[in-house]
Amino acid sequence: MAKIVIIGGGVIGASVAYHITERGVSDVVILERDSEQGKGSTGKATGGIRSQFETDINIRMSLHSLEFLKNCEFQTGYDPRGYLFYATTEEQMDYLHLNSAKQASIGVNGISVIDAKEVAKIVPGLNCDDILGGSFGATDGFINPLAVMRGFTERAVSKGAEIRFDTQATAFLTEGGKISGVETNQGTLECDAAVLCTGAWAKQLAATADIDLPVEPQRRQIVWARTLLPLPAKLPMVIDIGSGFHFRPGVDFNDPSQSGDRDVLFAYPDPDEPNSLNTDFDVSFIEKVYEKARERAPFLFNSEVIREKCRAGLYENTPDHHPILGGCEVGGLYFANGFSGHGVMHSPAAGRALSEIILDGRASFLDVSILGLDRFAKGKMLHETAFI
Ligand SMILES: Cc1cc2nc3c(=O)[nH]c(=O)nc-3n(C[C@H](O)[C@H](O)[C@H](O)COP(=O)(O)OP(=O)(O)OC[C@H]3O[C@@H](n4cnc5c(N)ncnc54)[C@H](O)[C@@H]3O)c2cc1C
Repeated sequence: MAKIVIIGGGVIGASVAYHITERGVSDVVILERDSEQGKGSTGKATGGIRSQFETDINIRMSLHSLEFLKNCEFQTGYDPRGYLFYATTEEQMDYLHLNSAKQASIGVNGISVIDAKEVAKIVPGLNCDDILGGSFGATDGFINPLAVMRGFTERAVSKGAEIRFDTQATAFLTEGGKISGVETNQGTLECDAAVLCTGAWAKQLAATADIDLPVEPQRRQIVWARTLLPLPAKLPMVIDIGSGFHFRPGVDFNDPSQSGDRDVLFAYPDPDEPNSLNTDFDVSFIEKVYEKARERAPFLFNSEVIREKCRAGLYENTPDHHPILGGCEVGGLYFANGFSGHGVMHSPAAGRALSEIILDGRASFLDVSILGLDRFAKGKMLHETAFI
């Protein structure tokens, strides 16, 4: 019998395992259906980390996670290149002013609201004709999602956790309203507690415990290209608030030394993308995203697509774009799901929260109670507009 079973070996399951084993509890088993880690959303992520959010809880999750990722004992690839949001309307500028004041009041350092000239300095070659300004977060930047996931996993395993590959959970088993085990393609595993960390694939499994988990998968695609000239030095993540069009220097997370100074990733959230588990890259997306780049960033438009490096993965969206952290009416069943595109950057806070909720009954380092599943039934959804 395992005390705690974590289902899903992506960055979230790994962080939950790390934080539980850090507390001295070693009877932890991670179940991963694939033969290796990183095949889910974690391996598809862009690797951005930012504190530029609208809600208190997202800002605080970022602050905690950033401190962790800067100071932890393993390599995370943290590179504070910054995030630049640019605005083309007065409303968007007002929104940036409001949000940056809020972020600063909560303790985020280095956020500045800037004018179009400063935007043009940060991103030489960007067409700023209609840009009014932007906000730049100097401590925002990049992390390596695979390094973070592997760092958490290695530390957890070194402290006694076990990871079982090729093991797919198929159902939760309950007895008297409590979790008693997890059924898998390799047989039944009895346990005291189970944590669902299966990202975009969470809803169906939750349903086996009669829980309606509002997490919907949606494909997100990324185009990898090589520009004609080297990218602007220290290019940050650059995001159009209006359309969500964004780009960043391309980094091969499996082997960062393979990335050159002309490699770039660009994407936008396609509003026509339906909810589905489709992770095939659709070549017609290339044309769509180049169209966005045409006027805005000629240096991106005049680039060569590296087709084999283009990718598609899944966002795991909740109705309010915030994660679901915590338990439910089934005793011993916990969720760390629905990160809605922010799961890598928020993995340290999410893992710590789950470890405290499971071991102490509540998270004390940060009050995450507003992220409970019950918020949907209670009509207490959160409101975040700073998502892409
Ligand atoms: C294109 C793209 C860009 C993104 N960019 C960013 C970014 O810049 N910053 C950021 O913070 N986040 C980003 N995200 C979001 C981020 O990738 C996710 O929020 C995060 O990876 C979620 O981690 P996870 O561990 O919950 O899920 P996953 O990494 O998907 O892991 C879930 C694991 O569960 C396993 N699994 C599924 N079902 C079962 C089962 N029944 N039994 C056993 N195992 C199972 C899967 O094989 C998988 O390994 C991006 C996502 C995409 C798609």
